[in-house]
Amino acid sequence: MVRKACDNCNKIIQVGDELGGQKVACEACGDINLMPDAPDPSRASRTDALGLPPDHGPEQAVLLVRPAMVRARPLVFFAHLVALVAGLAGVVFGLLTSAAGFPIVAAVAGGLVALVAVGSLGVWKIKTLSAALEITNKRTVHRKGLLSKATSEVVHDNIRNVQVTQSFWERIWRVGTLGLSSSGQDGIEIEIADIPDPERVRKIIDAYRPLG
Ligand SMILES: [Zn+2]
Repeated sequence: MVRKACDNCNKIIQVGDELGGQKVACEACGDINLMPDAPDPSRASRTDALGLPPDHGPEQAVLLVRPAMVRARPLVFFAHLVALVAGLAGVVFGLLTSAAGFPIVAAVAGGLVALVAVGSLGVWKIKTLSAALEITNKRTVHRKGLLSKATSEVVHDNIRNVQVTQSFWERIWRVGTLGLSSSGQDGIEIEIADIPDPERVRKIIDAYRPLG
């Protein structure tokens, strides 16, 4: 069943699914109305199975995904921690040792190393916070850049392919790169790296796009 309020008299027009997306005359006033698309039964069963909001009806947010930080690069994160701890140890050693010369150099060098480690972690954190994938029941929007606010989006009806690329380690840590391509143009239009649980994100997007 497809329902819509008449553009002219506001009376509810109700027709069978076969007239979804078609022009229908209002029974009350005769005004021609373009009916909304009928719900896609296979898509509805996929979204229902995952407990997701339906693809028809008003647009609503389904999932917001941000790149993972520690999980995406555990070794790099560990190296930052080692540098931070070693730097602070240098500072403590330098300050606690009363002899002149080397202890002062150790304190200054340690302080610098710790500062660089903290700064680098901060930049990394901001980078992960500035990228996001917003999935609604209608489309997927990719936001990147904290200040530039560059966005690209794909309407789910037009998605031709959802790809997950994972290296061996990424599979173990359950992160990966997600790529979406639409039927409009060739090639991947949205690509976002370090996505946590990329297979789950793919399943959700697949539930909203026409398959087969
Ligand atoms: Zn009417």
